[in-house]
Amino acid sequence: MNLADRLEGLRARIIQACEAADRDPQSVELLPVSKKQPLALIQEAAALGFTRFGENYVQEGADKAAAAPDLAFVLLGPLQRNKAKPALQHFREIQSLDRPELAERLRRLAGELGVVRPVWIQVDLWDEATKLGGCAEADLPALMGALGDDPHLPLRGLMAIPPPEDPGAFVQLQALRERLQQDLGRPLRLSMGMSADLEAAVKAGSDQVRIGTAFFGERQY
Ligand SMILES: *Cc1c(COP(=O)(O)O)cnc(C)c1O
Repeated sequence: MNLADRLEGLRARIIQACEAADRDPQSVELLPVSKKQPLALIQEAAALGFTRFGENYVQEGADKAAAAPDLAFVLLGPLQRNKAKPALQHFREIQSLDRPELAERLRRLAGELGVVRPVWIQVDLWDEATKLGGCAEADLPALMGALGDDPHLPLRGLMAIPPPEDPGAFVQLQALRERLQQDLGRPLRLSMGMSADLEAAVKAGSDQVRIGTAFFGERQY
């Protein structure tokens, strides 16, 4: 199947999920996740109208950003402190902010570099340790405090990779968003839902689904 066909199928899924949830399909952004996909395929997606792509690894995303300066890359994968600078240089947005030390380092470097990079807080919805990263709900106040209201790192929303087949986790994130919005007095977006579970995420109020395999096909490791 080619990209255009897969995209048509995906759009149909999103529209159907929105209709079932009484939502406007325009309110759900489709973010293609291009990790471990060749640049040629990303260019093909760009020809279909996409300009933003999710990537998981700093080096891979930096290489692609250098090769395709007209496209914007969004960092979705865990970020080590020592990669903070290249992450700010090569990615337009960071969705995996998950701890106060990282927020502090990103603030300092973004100030030095003079860049503005919207950030999303990745929330950990697993009740066990995983390598996926994410901030536990109880640690959110400390992280938000470390982020402050820094104009270099405006907070856009919450991102999560919940345990598979656990639609309750999406509902939990939606409730958390509501609470934080009330505290902050302004809207926050929700990035949740992937190839296998976008329907449940849209139903629970996701504003952005991040789609890899259902868009690009199997990843090439
Ligand atoms: C890989 C990845 C995706 C896309 O996953 P698919 O199941 O291929 O759609 C979305 N979000 C994050 C954070 C990822 O790492």
